[in-house]
Amino acid sequence: MFEQRLRRFEQQHLLRQLRTIGSASEAEVTLEGRPVILMASNNYLGLATHPVLKRAAVQATERFGVGAGAARLVSGTLPPHEELETALAKFKGTEAALTFGSGYLANLGVIPALIGAEGLIFADRLCHASLIDGCRLSGASLRVYRHNDAAHLKSLLAGRPAKRDTLIVTDGVFSMDGDLAPLPELIELADRYGARLFVDDAHGTGVMGVHGRGTLEHYGVESRLSFHMGTLGKALGTSGAYVAGPAAMIQYLLNTARTFLFATAPPPATAAATVAGLQILQAEPDRRARLWNNRNQLHAGLKNLGFRLTGSASPILPILVGDAQKTVAMANRLLELGVYAPAIRPPTVPKETSRIRVTVTSEHSRAQLDRALEAFGRAGRETGVI
Ligand code: PMP
Repeated sequence: MFEQRLRRFEQQHLLRQLRTIGSASEAEVTLEGRPVILMASNNYLGLATHPVLKRAAVQATERFGVGAGAARLVSGTLPPHEELETALAKFKGTEAALTFGSGYLANLGVIPALIGAEGLIFADRLCHASLIDGCRLSGASLRVYRHNDAAHLKSLLAGRPAKRDTLIVTDGVFSMDGDLAPLPELIELADRYGARLFVDDAHGTGVMGVHGRGTLEHYGVESRLSFHMGTLGKALGTSGAYVAGPAAMIQYLLNTARTFLFATAPPPATAAATVAGLQILQAEPDRRARLWNNRNQLHAGLKNLGFRLTGSASPILPILVGDAQKTVAMANRLLELGVYAPAIRPPTVPKETSRIRVTVTSEHSRAQLDRALEAFGRAGRETGVI
């Protein structure tokens, strides 16, 4: 049965395959024994391999051990976990923060804690899978609005049954398109219709806004939204996730979010490294400046080559191809030419919108970007994408 299903995936060009990176996750890595330029990682600021973060992780391991030993409420809360939550709340300008083992777990835990089966959720069509799964797990009725279409959302809100507990759910930066949710409009709609808005700023944190506080900062709406979530495994270079918000809400989540209650605490090393990452993120704004310079250079280069791009406003710069087979052919050719940028296919993205998901970091050099652009041009021409 499994073999048959796998064969079907293969025939549809939808079979996925692990590729082992044989070196640290830097701008250039070893893949299957060969050096390639990595244009696939969300390690936007290069913190995943930063010596200060590594040192913090080693020191925390020496002091507190490798594993936390239990869920946070049982016996797993260690000083680095508390330091991290204090640092996150300070960074985000909220009363408190709560951390989770991953973004997926945060969304699975927080959404059902915010809304129950009697509620109503409106989610953007391109929301991340973890948001959708969190919505499903809540048991609330789920309605999907067209991507970033505030007018569509408004008409759905206007037509909903009165007085039903309502949550609007969106990514801040969309993970497979790189575009931004229209947060000011969504906040206005939430206010007007008495709904709450849940923003997943996984790809905005550390990247968007002058100080890297995220998509809310980018739009100047931090004071208008009392809580949001983000992840630690992308710009912050480690792993895990947080919800930042009012103290009472955080206490409530600590009591009710099942993926917090019933999951072993993240390793103290991860929490300590993230504290160090947060310090660097704030102390070294030039990292973000380098990231944006690289992003703008790459965006202009891809556009000049004639690729069809999304409406990205972030360092996620997908090349739209459409057909899954053609996308895989281009990704394979890119790899031969020394660039690793993955083919993203359904069900990660809607049918006929397969793409090469290109990301860039602060750590790519000018020469690496030039080489990558040359490879994109060649692979695009040879596979008929341009
Ligand atoms: N939300 C979004 C928007 C994401 O892109 C991701 C990661 N791909 C997640 C949540 C899940 O986060 P994590 O990888 O920490 O589980």
